[in-house]
Amino acid sequence: MTSGVTNARNERIFKKTSDQISSETARVLETLRSRADYTREFDYFLELAESGMTPEAAETRTGLTTIKLLCVQAPLELIHAAGFHPFKVFCGSNAACNLASRGLPALACPMLRSVIGAAKLAQSSSESPWVLPTTCDWVVKFPEMLAISDVAGEPDSIRVHWLELPHLKDRDDGQRRWIEEIYNFKKFLTSDGRRIKRAALAESVAIYRRAWQALVRLSDLRREGRLSSIWFMLMTGVFFCDSPQNWTTAAERAANSQMTPALRGAKVFLAGSPIFFPNFKIPFLLEEAGLEVVSDDLCSSERIFPGSVACGDESEFGLMSAMSQSYHQGCVCPTFIDNDRRINNILGRMKGAGFKGVVFHVLKGCHPYDLESFGIETKLKDRGLKFIRLETDYSGEDSRNLNTRLEAFRQTIRED
Ligand code: SF4
Repeated sequence: MTSGVTNARNERIFKKTSDQISSETARVLETLRSRADYTREFDYFLELAESGMTPEAAETRTGLTTIKLLCVQAPLELIHAAGFHPFKVFCGSNAACNLASRGLPALACPMLRSVIGAAKLAQSSSESPWVLPTTCDWVVKFPEMLAISDVAGEPDSIRVHWLELPHLKDRDDGQRRWIEEIYNFKKFLTSDGRRIKRAALAESVAIYRRAWQALVRLSDLRREGRLSSIWFMLMTGVFFCDSPQNWTTAAERAANSQMTPALRGAKVFLAGSPIFFPNFKIPFLLEEAGLEVVSDDLCSSERIFPGSVACGDESEFGLMSAMSQSYHQGCVCPTFIDNDRRINNILGRMKGAGFKGVVFHVLKGCHPYDLESFGIETKLKDRGLKFIRLETDYSGEDSRNLNTRLEAFRQTIRED
């Protein structure tokens, strides 16, 4: 097959995928705008979702070079204090997922496959570096997956800064190694001669603390049934698409506005693999089945960042060690060995949020959450919680089956 024919064929595939992604996005946006609980305070978040959730779009909005992130362990405050915009790369498009499939293992993480498909389509021009914590195997192999998918040249041609994540977070040596990693990361961020002054770092910590407080207000409104989980997940999902200050202002405005109460249902906690726009299949199915998510621990939602950095000592070392602690010990990612914090976190919220069931979302190929779902099920059931594990991917083929299971699950909760 001549290169001309191959190019023509690729162009057709790219055009078709691009149209599919646009219609996936348009369909979800239209559904959101036609909801009974839609208010114009959500427009800012809808517009961010509509105008593209890419590093390039974020660079245009913020006027800053982005640092491309996967996962949630790289300190956002340090990146911000260095004058960059931290952008957590994600994608929830099934069409993009399919575009990336060729050449990748069948069970590769759907979220990363979708990211690769979107980058392939965008022929992404962003030269900004990737900062990758050594979380799960797919993240560790991400540069190779980019190379295999012809999105970038050889893996070593991609600008990557690795954050070597100690997987035993409650051990002193692990915590010492992590703070060294954060100081190395500071060196990387200032390798072009810029400086990170203590005052700038303290200011960035304050900016993200205000963002965290706005996020906590939104999660309180959701817990009280005054904000539906679908809007909460859209608002948190676009957090990295604009400056933290603009996002915080819009979130506070929405939180102060008169909101239409969410559809009340059987209260559940949502745990597991991340859920990214426009892949809102699970949130819509939960609502359809009469299940109300009142709290979650998804790294795409309530855990978009681990919390506000609490530090009594505002010296540079004080700020750096408080930040490293927040992003390491404060993280409940299943990649960690000693992770009782996740179960304690769920059980700790049970009383306040009033949920009686846990819905555990597992993306096919997402091994850390897949494995964890089995251990956590027993422990939560022992504490009287109902539990359902949903293994799925980005396609819509299993929606009917999932809906039937969720309906039955709701019955078990109500009967309690
Ligand atoms: S933890 Fe799961 S969802 Fe996250 S990158 Fe790894 S495989 Fe993908």
